[in-house]
Amino acid sequence: MSRLDVDVLIIGGGIVGSSAALFLAQGGQRVALLERNFCGAQASGVNYGGVRRQGRPLVQLPLSSRAHQLWGGLQDLLGTDGEYLRSGHLKLARSDTDFASLQAYAQASQGFDLDLQLLDRSELRRRFPWVGDIAVGASFCPEDGHANPRLVSPAFARAAARAGAQIFERTAVTAVEHDGQRFQLRTESGLTLSAPWLLNCAGAWAAELAARFGEPVPLTAAHPAMLVTEPLPPFMTASTGVEGGGIYARQVARGNCVLGGGRGFALDADRARP
Ligand SMILES: Cc1cc2nc3c(=O)[nH]c(=O)nc-3n(C[C@H](O)[C@H](O)[C@H](O)COP(=O)(O)OP(=O)(O)OC[C@H]3O[C@@H](n4cnc5c(N)ncnc54)[C@H](O)[C@@H]3O)c2cc1C
Repeated sequence: MSRLDVDVLIIGGGIVGSSAALFLAQGGQRVALLERNFCGAQASGVNYGGVRRQGRPLVQLPLSSRAHQLWGGLQDLLGTDGEYLRSGHLKLARSDTDFASLQAYAQASQGFDLDLQLLDRSELRRRFPWVGDIAVGASFCPEDGHANPRLVSPAFARAAARAGAQIFERTAVTAVEHDGQRFQLRTESGLTLSAPWLLNCAGAWAAELAARFGEPVPLTAAHPAMLVTEPLPPFMTASTGVEGGGIYARQVARGNCVLGGGRGFALDADRARP
């Protein structure tokens, strides 16, 4: 049985664990990341792929602004752009009340450099004719966009490995203890690891881990229904959502449209497949 002592242990190789591994390794920490599956194979690899600030609660915007800067430097950070595109994010209003909400948000978010453009019905038709007649207006954030999560999330893990982090894929953590000073992990494959710091980045499975340390977190796994079309002639020039939620859609360079909305259903009892 092999044993490894590091500075930081990370459970979970989604975007959260992998990006933490990257920045910690770049900061000189000895990092080991344990991923039960492949990095980016769970929620981080199969989501809609929206990368936006528009519509986020105001309290999240300072963090979103920092993330926006990181996304702009993705090629340098990861060695791939992950098909990240600042297409703009268009938020449609289906009623005058919804348009008033978009106007209020534009007002309240001033100072966060979103550069929101409010489009009335005729301006929306002129600039985005493919939207059709259903919307009474919209708010457009020109520098928001979308990316291919299937590419971006594993790329964070690969970049972390290049920066010196040890990434263990197909390695499920089966036991976690704390001896008062260090965390000890054991894996299905027979590894024992220890470190003074442990990051619980297990996504939908994080609550169970947290509960083991007396820190229960109310966590429910939920996901939208998603679909991807065959490639279509390019027509959708911006990632698009709707005020109040409901449906969102984007079109990738190959022509496929990715749509999401509502609630999907899970295939097993705990609503999160291992
Ligand atoms: C480019 C991008 C765009 C996104 N766009 C959207 C969007 O438009 N809308 C939206 O709602 N969300 C979006 N998201 C967010 C996404 O839906 C998820 O919420 C997010 O990626 C979750 O990340 P995570 O690392 O917490 O979880 P996960 O990706 O699920 O990672 C957790 C990992 O922990 C591992 N794990 C669990 N238990 C163990 C164990 N015991 N041992 C070892 N490993 C374990 C799992 O195998 C899993 O890989 C986006 C994410 C990305 C990367």
